[in-house]
Amino acid sequence: MARTHFVKKANKQWTCRTCRQPIEIGKPYKWFKMRYYPKFSYHDTCTIPKAHMTTSEHLGNLYGAQDDLTASVNSFRGFAETDFAGAVTDLISAVEEAEEMAEQEYESYT
Ligand SMILES: [Zn+2]
Repeated sequence: MARTHFVKKANKQWTCRTCRQPIEIGKPYKWFKMRYYPKFSYHDTCTIPKAHMTTSEHLGNLYGAQDDLTASVNSFRGFAETDFAGAVTDLISAVEEAEEMAEQEYESYT
């Protein structure tokens, strides 16, 4: 488990990984950092999901699925109208894979 650090006044704006809302400058927040991952920040009032603090391939799998989704969405944006159907098919399969991955990971934590 990574150690959680508490900060009384944020010196820059972060995004809370729990509620996805910005952590305003000057507000208290908490954060932790794991090897190979960026710093994770949270409102002091938000609960850090246990899964976030687990260094394992599970989290890596989820981030991998998320990256695939992002890549699909980006290529989707780049497609011309004629490739629309193909882009939609790619996007749907990426979403389905991400869903499946999230389900598997959820089950491994319960
Ligand atoms: Zn929050």
